[in-house]
Amino acid sequence: MIDSIAVRVPAKVNAQLAVGGRRPDGFHDLANVFLAVGLYDEITVTPADELRITVEGPDADQVPRDRTNLAARAAELLAARHGIEPRVHLHIAKDIPVAGGMAGGSADGAGALLACDALWNTGATREELLDICAELGSDVPFSLVGGAALGRGRGELLTPLTVGGTFHWVFAVADGGLSTPAVYGECDRLRAERGAGDTIDDVPAPEPSAALLDALRAGDATALAAALTAGPDGSSNDLQAAAVSLRPSLADTLRAGTEAGALASLVSGSGPTCAFLAKDAAGAEQVATALAASGTCRTARVAASPAAGATVVREDRRAPSA
Ligand code: ATP
Repeated sequence: MIDSIAVRVPAKVNAQLAVGGRRPDGFHDLANVFLAVGLYDEITVTPADELRITVEGPDADQVPRDRTNLAARAAELLAARHGIEPRVHLHIAKDIPVAGGMAGGSADGAGALLACDALWNTGATREELLDICAELGSDVPFSLVGGAALGRGRGELLTPLTVGGTFHWVFAVADGGLSTPAVYGECDRLRAERGAGDTIDDVPAPEPSAALLDALRAGDATALAAALTAGPDGSSNDLQAAAVSLRPSLADTLRAGTEAGALASLVSGSGPTCAFLAKDAAGAEQVATALAASGTCRTARVAASPAAGATVVREDRRAPSA
């Protein structure tokens, strides 16, 4: 009998985030190049009398403990599909910055899903798990699969990508998060302000950059850096200008990373975490030390990509009763 299961799930960085115009339903079509990076949350599930959540980690106080937590929603959705009561204790050891543009909540949703699936032995297929992930949120399917992938649609329609080497990153974690919907709203506002329009009819359909995909395939950090800074606003991330507009101090963080020798500096997803590509592991340590000393971020973390998706790391079994 399984007593508890622990699953480790990675954060992500968007090597490219091309954002189409606002659709009539308010969402945006994306060409989203996801890379899983080696910063992890760990979700442990244990049978309990009722669904409850506990959280530990530096940002634990910002994580909801109620049914809005994506980990709780994942457990409920899986349980409902299999006619099970979701009586589990979900413990989240949180190391991914909260509301940091690194898909931390999505990681917890994917991790809880995989852990509950193993605990309840539902026999769900990979397709069913991915389906539940897509219902939970656009970034959740990628948290389950990890590695590298191109996300189309709202980001949930995934095609795996080949990565030919290890990339070394530094993540500058900010104090306080940014709301993803607010950043998309600001992106629309800035586009409308420029006069070219912000709807799906005004903005060219988002496409992945061939140069960026080639650089990933080759494992070439210098070529990837060129592609990361090649977009219309000097970034492969179409949300970068909006994140900087809402949080102008991010411009200082990006500059500090470049001055510290990063090959490329960009906002991670909707921010406010900033991502810096380094030449190698030693280069990443050097950039992290300089960023931490710059006073432009709360902390600087080093992590490599690609990283594996949600993975069971521990299974405790109860001794059979005599
Ligand atoms: P993304 O990169 O996918 O846009 P993010 O990394 O910017 O997301 P999250 O850390 O996922 O942001 O948190 C966004 C909001 O989601 C939080 O402010 C919180 O209210 C809510 N949330 C729900 N479940 C969780 C969770 N398990 N961990 C953190 N936040 C959660």
